[in-house]
Amino acid sequence: MSTILVQGAMQEELELLARMLPGGRWTEQKGYSFYETGLHETKIILSLTQVGILHACISTMLGIERYKPDALINQGTAGGHIRTLEIGDIVIGETAVYINSMQSPIREKGAGSNALEWIPLETKGGAPLEADPKLVQAAEQTPYAGTLLRGRLGSGDLFSRETDRIDLLHAQFGQLCEDMESAAAYKVCHLYHIPVIGIRIISNNELTGRHEAPELFRRTQEKLQSFLYRYLQALTAGKGPSEAEPAGCTPF
Ligand code: SAH
Repeated sequence: MSTILVQGAMQEELELLARMLPGGRWTEQKGYSFYETGLHETKIILSLTQVGILHACISTMLGIERYKPDALINQGTAGGHIRTLEIGDIVIGETAVYINSMQSPIREKGAGSNALEWIPLETKGGAPLEADPKLVQAAEQTPYAGTLLRGRLGSGDLFSRETDRIDLLHAQFGQLCEDMESAAAYKVCHLYHIPVIGIRIISNNELTGRHEAPELFRRTQEKLQSFLYRYLQALTAGKGPSEAEPAGCTPF
C-alpha cells in the first residue's frame, strides 16, 4: 500500500497517532486539517474530519481527491447499542449504516413529537455499506488487550441517550454502536472505489448506564490509537502485527 488515510473527528482522536508518527506536517484544505507523515514505505495521512455526517462527507472527499489513498480508516469513539458492549470494547465495522433518515407521522399543532413512531425512509441511504474484507481481517488479527468484535456501525447526526429509541434503532438497522461519521466515510469511499474500514471504541453505553468519566475519555481514545498504530504497522510492513510501541509513547 502506498497511501493510507486515517480519520478522526476530534483532535484528541488523532493526537497520540500524530505523536507516534512524528516528523510530519499539518496542512489545511478548505478548513479541514490533514497531517502528512509516513510509516515504513507508506504515506500516512491523518485527517481531522470534525464531528458529524456533513463534515465527514466533505473531508473524506477532500482527502480522497488530494491524496488518492489505497485505504481509508475511519476511527473514533462510539456509544454501545447492545447491552453486552463494555467501555473499551472495539467494534470493527464489517458494515456501516446511516441511521438518521426518518419520516415522522403527521401530527397537528400541539400534538408533540415521538421519535418512536418515526420510520426509516426506504432510500438507498439506509442500506448497509461494506468494509473491505482484507482490512477487516487484518484488524481482527491485530493484538488488543480487550474485546475486539466485528459487526455493523451506525452513524447519524444524533447522540442517542434514550433507551427505548436505542433499542428501536438497533431493531431497525442492526448496528452494534452509534457514531457520527463512519457511514459517511463508507459512502464516499464506495463512490471512489477506495477500500474502507471503520473502527470504533465504546466510550459510553446508555443501555447499561456506563459512561466514560471525562478524565478517562481521553484514555479510551488513546487506547484505540495504540491499537491503530499496531494495525498500521501490520498494514504497512506486511508482517505480523506486534505489541511493541515506539519509545516515548504511553503503553496501555
Ligand atoms: N463535544 C462534541 C461532541 C462529541 S461526542 C460536540 O459538542 O460537538 C460526538 C463524537 O463522539 C462524534 O465524533 C461521534 O462519532 C462520537 N460518539 C461517541 N459516542 C457517541 C454516541 N453515543 N452517539 C453518537 N456519537 C458518538
